[in-house]
Amino acid sequence: MSEPDVVLDAPRQSAVERVVDTRLPTVYGELRAIGYLDGETAREQVALVFGDVGGDGVLTRVHSECLTGDAFGSIHCECGDQLSTALRAIVADGAGVLVYLRGHEGRGIGLLAKLQAMRLQDEGLDTVEANLALGFPSDARDYRAAAEILQDLGVRSVRLLSNNLRKMDALRQYGIEVAERVPLLIPPNDENLRYLRTKRERLGHHLPHLDDIAGQPSGGRPNAESVSPNEATRPARTSRPFSADASEGRPTTPDSV
Ligand SMILES: [Zn+2]
Repeated sequence: MSEPDVVLDAPRQSAVERVVDTRLPTVYGELRAIGYLDGETAREQVALVFGDVGGDGVLTRVHSECLTGDAFGSIHCECGDQLSTALRAIVADGAGVLVYLRGHEGRGIGLLAKLQAMRLQDEGLDTVEANLALGFPSDARDYRAAAEILQDLGVRSVRLLSNNLRKMDALRQYGIEVAERVPLLIPPNDENLRYLRTKRERLGHHLPHLDDIAGQPSGGRPNAESVSPNEATRPARTSRPFSADASEGRPTTPDSV
């Protein structure tokens, strides 16, 4: 009987199908794991949901899968810390969504190619050069499935936990309103500082906390005080960055919107 709402920004039909919705108790809190099958890619996808997420300004992380960072504790990248920090932030905010995107290993080149790219980085290439040397684009990720999952969940607009301006633009192109970008800044370490600088300089990631260690090419100590002088002069945001602060073990809390 009921007709679907007219969605002006997303005229195409969704390719994702909701297959399962189950309780998922975690160290962060009790989440719901909602599983989808993407008919366009045949990939299984999952969204982790906390609280009531139907509406506007939903705190949202669209996380690209990274087996080495998310599961193995690799510090080559900051993915694992971003995943745990985002989930803590969502629970602390009272509601939110983390869409975990399969098929995004190594910015979309696959697990084995990502491992090959990591080997090339040990030989001196940066993360962009390594992808290109292997015959892949610097970033092959697509965010259609994430947008369709958010639409299925009834999320009308998001506060996006991300440093990646391209991701924000991509979601908007797929009809997701991004009301705000909430920085997700992880203190760098000696292993990932060059990688993070490359992401900032060549992939358009907004990583102002790297300014704090600009004069220390070898990396230096991680600095959890992530607000730089440059950052302080920028226009005020309604949410402060979430950062992984090992001394407190929880993210900083943003101002409420
Ligand atoms: Zn990673």
